Amino acid sequence: MAYSEKAKGYFSTELEGIKEAGTFKEERFIESPQAANIKVEFPTGSPPKEVLNFCANNYLGLSSHPEVVAAAHEGLNERGYGMSSVRFICGTQDIHKDLETKLTEFLGTEDTILFPSCMDANAGVFDVVLGKEDAMIADRLVHASIVDGMRLCKAQLYNYKHSNMEHLEEKLKETQDCRFRLVITDGVFSMDGDIAKLDEICNLADKYDAMVLVDDSHATGFMGKTGRGTHEHCGVLGRIDVITTTLGKALGGASGGCVSGRKEIVELCRQRARPYLFSNTVPPVIVAAASKVLDIISKTTDRRDKLEEHTKYFRAKMTEAGFDIKEGVHPIVPIMLYNAKLAQDMARDLYGEGIYVIGFSFPVVPKGQARIRVQISAGHDREHIDRAIAAFTKIGEKYKILGKQKNEIIEMYGL
Ligand SMILES: *Cc1c(COP(=O)(O)O)cnc(C)c1O
Repeated sequence: MAYSEKAKGYFSTELEGIKEAGTFKEERFIESPQAANIKVEFPTGSPPKEVLNFCANNYLGLSSHPEVVAAAHEGLNERGYGMSSVRFICGTQDIHKDLETKLTEFLGTEDTILFPSCMDANAGVFDVVLGKEDAMIADRLVHASIVDGMRLCKAQLYNYKHSNMEHLEEKLKETQDCRFRLVITDGVFSMDGDIAKLDEICNLADKYDAMVLVDDSHATGFMGKTGRGTHEHCGVLGRIDVITTTLGKALGGASGGCVSGRKEIVELCRQRARPYLFSNTVPPVIVAAASKVLDIISKTTDRRDKLEEHTKYFRAKMTEAGFDIKEGVHPIVPIMLYNAKLAQDMARDLYGEGIYVIGFSFPVVPKGQARIRVQISAGHDREHIDRAIAAFTKIGEKYKILGKQKNEIIEMYGL
């Protein structure tokens, strides 16, 4: 037997280390569909409890929307369950092509290729676009899937300080001798909910003859006046060369992702992107439902408008209540607590009040930056938002942090 005592001992010690560091992740079992109201079994083994969900990426409240579920049923009935094939052998149905066309129209690009996930889109795209004579210039806080995608690519890797345009310009100057340069950023950064300065990035890219790639997973469907994404929000529609994004967040939340952008790049992905060539096609049931999602959000901006209204309201009321929140306009609202235990304790107490939120601490966020990350959804009603604000206020009072500045909270609780 090759699974030796030595190997087993090593893995066990690693697991113990994770537990000792306080970063061991426990899954929580939800016994209902994804929605504003969910039933959660927590701690595991306790009877399920009804809580309001404030930690899903269900930004538009479409994850269990009746029309989306009906479209999924129809897709299942008409096109079956699985395709048992990758796209280029016998895994492409007409509905895959339709969805790609709808995504292209919605995102305002030239063409789109579906991937099993955005993680796969990011794993595939860099190696297709760039070779060793080229440079990738990435924001230091890009998503893990971009980091992995860049590792699979032979181009030279540069990074710039988070959203620091002077530093980006320095890197663009440094790489003038490369054949192609690609500036790489998330549209919205998931821990702070802050938005990339895409207008300035595009201007710099024009000035230095570089291409731009944006991962818009936390923006597609609701950022910008008609929800097209961060590029719409920043007024640079049509200027982003490559957009990668997910169907797994606002767009129904099942799974799937895409690369959308310049048509030659997308076409080359169809020829060479490894997760596209060697991983199974997105199942018809998801394609049918995602297609319905795009119909819904292309027809009306009601959902993204409601989300924006909720977000403004929640941010204003929480600030008024005396919480230290990171400023911004995104439905990711970080409630800053700095101390990891305080974040855990408050999240637990909020759960007791029927509000489901998660405390984030190192290594998910930098040391001394612990927080509760609230995510607002168009699936919430105003009454849900009010209940969350009331519960936060009650628990904030308990911990005596209302109206306190950063240094005061750190003085009370330490880092
Ligand atoms: C969620 C997320 C992904 C991963 O999307 P999947 O489709 O679930 O693989 C990739 N990039 C960013 C920025 C994300 O937020």
